[in-house]
Amino acid sequence: MLASLGMIPLNEPNILSKDKCFTVMLDGRVLGKVPQRSAGRLVDKLRMLKIEGLKVPKTLEIVLVPLSKTKGQHPGLFLFAGPALMMRPVMNLAAKKVELIGTFEQVYMDICITQKEAHPGITTHQELSKTSFMSNLASMIPMPDCNQSPRNMYQCQMGKQTMGTPWHNWLVNSDTKLYRLQTPSTPLFRPVHYDMLKMDDYAMGTNAIVAVISYTGYDMEDAMIINKSSLERGFAYGSVVKSEVVTLNSVHSYFALDNTDIQAAKYLQEDGLPHPGQKVTEDQPFYSYFDHESGKFLTKKYHGEDMVIDQVKLCGNVAVRSAAGNCGKAIITYRIPRYPMIGDKFASRAGQKGICSQTLPTEDLPFTESGIVPDIVFNPHGFPSRMTIAMMIECMAGKSAALHGLVHDATPFEFSEEDTAIDYFGKLLHAGGFNHFGTERLYSGVNGCEMRANIFFGVVYYQRLRHMVSDKWQVRSTGVTDMLTRQPIGGRKRGGGVRFGEMERDSLISHGASFLLQDRLFHCSDKSLALICRTCGTILGPVLAIQNNKKDTSLNYTAKCRLCADEGIIERIEIPTFLGI
Ligand SMILES: [Zn+2]
Repeated sequence: MLASLGMIPLNEPNILSKDKCFTVMLDGRVLGKVPQRSAGRLVDKLRMLKIEGLKVPKTLEIVLVPLSKTKGQHPGLFLFAGPALMMRPVMNLAAKKVELIGTFEQVYMDICITQKEAHPGITTHQELSKTSFMSNLASMIPMPDCNQSPRNMYQCQMGKQTMGTPWHNWLVNSDTKLYRLQTPSTPLFRPVHYDMLKMDDYAMGTNAIVAVISYTGYDMEDAMIINKSSLERGFAYGSVVKSEVVTLNSVHSYFALDNTDIQAAKYLQEDGLPHPGQKVTEDQPFYSYFDHESGKFLTKKYHGEDMVIDQVKLCGNVAVRSAAGNCGKAIITYRIPRYPMIGDKFASRAGQKGICSQTLPTEDLPFTESGIVPDIVFNPHGFPSRMTIAMMIECMAGKSAALHGLVHDATPFEFSEEDTAIDYFGKLLHAGGFNHFGTERLYSGVNGCEMRANIFFGVVYYQRLRHMVSDKWQVRSTGVTDMLTRQPIGGRKRGGGVRFGEMERDSLISHGASFLLQDRLFHCSDKSLALICRTCGTILGPVLAIQNNKKDTSLNYTAKCRLCADEGIIERIEIPTFLGI
């Protein structure tokens, strides 16, 4: 078929010189040559056959890599007909039909997004929708066309870190770690793509009443204040589901409870395992088993955050569990409750992330004319430099959606300069008896006075991110030190210290805080005593000699300099251990 379109097969004599031909390859095998000047025509004809699905499959990938003066991919005509090609649909402008294109050929194609962008004679294809250039993550941002572009990229990063509903079978699964939001809700302002992906089944956030106001100062630098009563009602409540696989050391060992162990019997069942619903805290019996090697019952204790047992799975043939080699494995699934607290991270869908810095009781927060109190206080200084207009539109749209009992469409490129989103939602707000621009009069929660400024007030969909303080906090007074250097060890898990590095050192030097510097880096670190000889000034000279006292049997240590012998005057000094090494 290719030969009929102008390809010169391998077994036919080729009168053209090698340089003036493209190699034709199908799935990595050479089929023949095609003259460079007629290669374009061959590709056009082949593409028409492909669109019609005649003689060649509709999933054929046709890549004509042209000659390039600069370095590039090897020129030639490459065809792919394999069953595992990743393809997407676009409109072929010449045939006015949908064509599937592959990842390799799309690089050498001219695809426009709207008809306006098409250059006659150059553009061959058009996207089926204005949003098809966006990924699934980007397609779920409300009105990304109204955001500064980096904010959309930040949201694409954060969308993957949300606590939400990753899947629905965590009750039967044994996931190593899973973050789950207990009280998710559906966004009131969302793009069509959100529904196409059926994201309502995998909700990943909560609708929050947001007041854009600088209040108390606790909302400085991207921090945000959260209503304490909202938290107590279950706002952004999440949990971490974990599984622990317990494998017994020998085939003759089995899970069983030691009846003589009263402490373990309080918490564990007869089979030596905890029951679902059991609350477990640090150092509480976790499971117990009969150890074949020692011939004793052993009870393992739980180490970690307070948790609740979700499920216990005994693996193996439970019917004949007493027989050797059966049921030597158990999977204990448990959940760690994680209510939102100070230090937890939240973000709207416009790349506006923030840390909860304070939880205020409802009565201390500002309230509106109708008595509505915000869930989240967002600092207005977050808007001017970031230019996340979509979040402001969402605030208005969410408010009008809540007002009229609707869900608004947030698909990008639907509004224009003549017909703006602000006007559209402003009119809806006005119809509901609110200010056209989404602002409201607020009363201070501290003294009850009406505030002079109008406050932007509405509903924004907030995501709770998986970075939580309870996974990150680190403190230490004294503890384990390194054997060699005698400096405190690092690492949160091992109870190590927080590193005081070179930059921190420079900072203290520049502040002139030399005593603090000595305290951190010397007294609280690897201070040690050493001997020094005043005569020769070396710390390597002095050695301790043990002298036996003749009068009593006690040992007496005296230091002597190896270099100066009797003339050496030995003193004790404090040096960092590492200097001695
Ligand atoms: Zn000396």
